[in-house]
Amino acid sequence: MSKSIAIDGPAGAGKSTIAKKVAKSLGFIYVDTGAMYRAMALYMIKNKVDASDSEKISATCKSADITIKHENGEQVVYLNKENVNGLIRTEEVGNMASASSVNADVRAKLVELQQKMAETTDVVMDGRDIGTVVLPGADLKVYLTASSKVRAERRYKELTEKGTQCNLDEIEKDIIDRDYRDMHRENSPLKQAEDAVLVDSSYMTIDEVADEILRLYKERA
Ligand code: C5P
Repeated sequence: MSKSIAIDGPAGAGKSTIAKKVAKSLGFIYVDTGAMYRAMALYMIKNKVDASDSEKISATCKSADITIKHENGEQVVYLNKENVNGLIRTEEVGNMASASSVNADVRAKLVELQQKMAETTDVVMDGRDIGTVVLPGADLKVYLTASSKVRAERRYKELTEKGTQCNLDEIEKDIIDRDYRDMHRENSPLKQAEDAVLVDSSYMTIDEVADEILRLYKERA
C-alpha cells in the first residue's frame, strides 16, 4: 500500500516549502493541491465565468481537464494539455481560486484526482482538507500554522525583497480575512483533523519544522 503524509493549514504557514523538503528526504512525491484549484480558477477566468455564479462554475468545471505530472522533481499542472505553471501564481487567479474552491462540483472533481494519485504513489500532499477529506487514512496528518502576525511579516519580507511596495497591517488584515473565509465555508472548511498533530511554525525555522515532521513520521512508521 502506498504511504501518505497530509499537511493542512492556513495560507502562509510554510506548507509548500516544508512539504517539498519532507517529500524529497523520504523519496515521496510532493502534491500541491492549491495549484489544482488555481488551474481550475484560471479555466474560469479564461471562460469569463463570474466568481459569484455558482451554476456557471459547476457547469464549466466539467470540461476542465486538469492533470499533474512530475518533471525534474517539480510538479507541473496541465490544463487541457497546456502547462499552466507560469500562469497560476497571480493575485487574480488566487482570488478566483478562493471563490471557485467553495463550489462542491469543483471540489468533487479535484478530490477524486488527488485520491487517485495517492492510491498508487507515496505522497506528501498539502492543502486545506487533505487530512479531513482527501486522505482520512493518511499515515501522518500535520496541521501547520503560525500566528497571523508572523505570516504577515514573512509575506511582507518576500514582497519587499522583490521590490513591491506594501503595508504590513494591510497584509495581516488580508491574511485574517482569508483564514476566516477558508475556515467558515460550507464545503470542506479548513480545520485541524482530530488525529492531526499541531505544529506552530511561528518561532521555528524551515529545517526545524521539516525535521519535526520527519521525526513524527518515523515514530509512526
Ligand atoms: O494554497 P493556495 O493558496 O495555492 O490555494 C489556492 C486556493 O485554493 C485557496 O484560496 C484555498 O482556499 C483553495 N484550496 C482549497 N483546498 C485545497 C487547497 C487549496 O480549497 N486542498
